[in-house]
Amino acid sequence: MNSRRSILGAALTGALTISHASARPPGAAAPPPAERRPSTRAALPLVVLDPGHGGADPGAIGAAGTMEKRIVLAIAQELRRRLEAGGRARVILTRNRDVFVPLAERVAIARRHEAALFLSIHADSAPAGHAGQARGASVYTLAETASDPFSAALARRENLADQAGGLRLPSVPPDVQRILLSLMRAETRQGSESVARQAVAAMQGDVPLLANPHRRAGFVVLKAPDVPSALVEVGFLSHPADEALLNRPAWRARVADSLTEGVYAYLGRRVVT
Ligand SMILES: [Zn+2]
Repeated sequence: MNSRRSILGAALTGALTISHASARPPGAAAPPPAERRPSTRAALPLVVLDPGHGGADPGAIGAAGTMEKRIVLAIAQELRRRLEAGGRARVILTRNRDVFVPLAERVAIARRHEAALFLSIHADSAPAGHAGQARGASVYTLAETASDPFSAALARRENLADQAGGLRLPSVPPDVQRILLSLMRAETRQGSESVARQAVAAMQGDVPLLANPHRRAGFVVLKAPDVPSALVEVGFLSHPADEALLNRPAWRARVADSLTEGVYAYLGRRVVT
């Protein structure tokens, strides 16, 4: 664990709470049995992969009936296999089967485990007016003001998956806590931007990309103040060509290969103090 995390974390203890943090739904990742892990393994950076939707929430449904929740789980599992095989990261999934996990709980899992990186994986429908045209992968980082109306609409709909989600900050935090929190957020934001850049660079040439593939919007699931976070749309199920590709295991493996490269590039550059 790096010292920044421990100092800021200790200073912020009690300052941050997450709604529903205690209500872990069945199937969500449980805290790791840390005492049973070999020490070399525990020292590896932890990547939390977050397959979107699940359970009663299918996510987008393509014209051929493909459900987003199934595609993104398959890709997350592929990605986990590759990252673990590389031996340079530990991996936790926010869900490993077809179960609903609230957005806030997804964020809470990453924070509870002090993850080095949180990567949410989606294959949504493009917002109305773009559904027939928009295709290709894109990567989103958190911003109060969206980079464009397309991304704003995407985040708005995605956030509906959990009406009550999100971080709940104390109403009047002490000044010192506010300053520490803003430092932490600034550093986390830099990490998130770096993850997104590496993911886009890794997919370039291998996977079709949406125009301006790195975009920003207010996704609830990206709001951890202390875990660099990005959301990857691996394609849009509203586009028949993307839907056909995402149904092919070989294609999903290709996407997972690219994302593995991006994650490793990010972890390699990460400054650990
Ligand atoms: Zn989605």
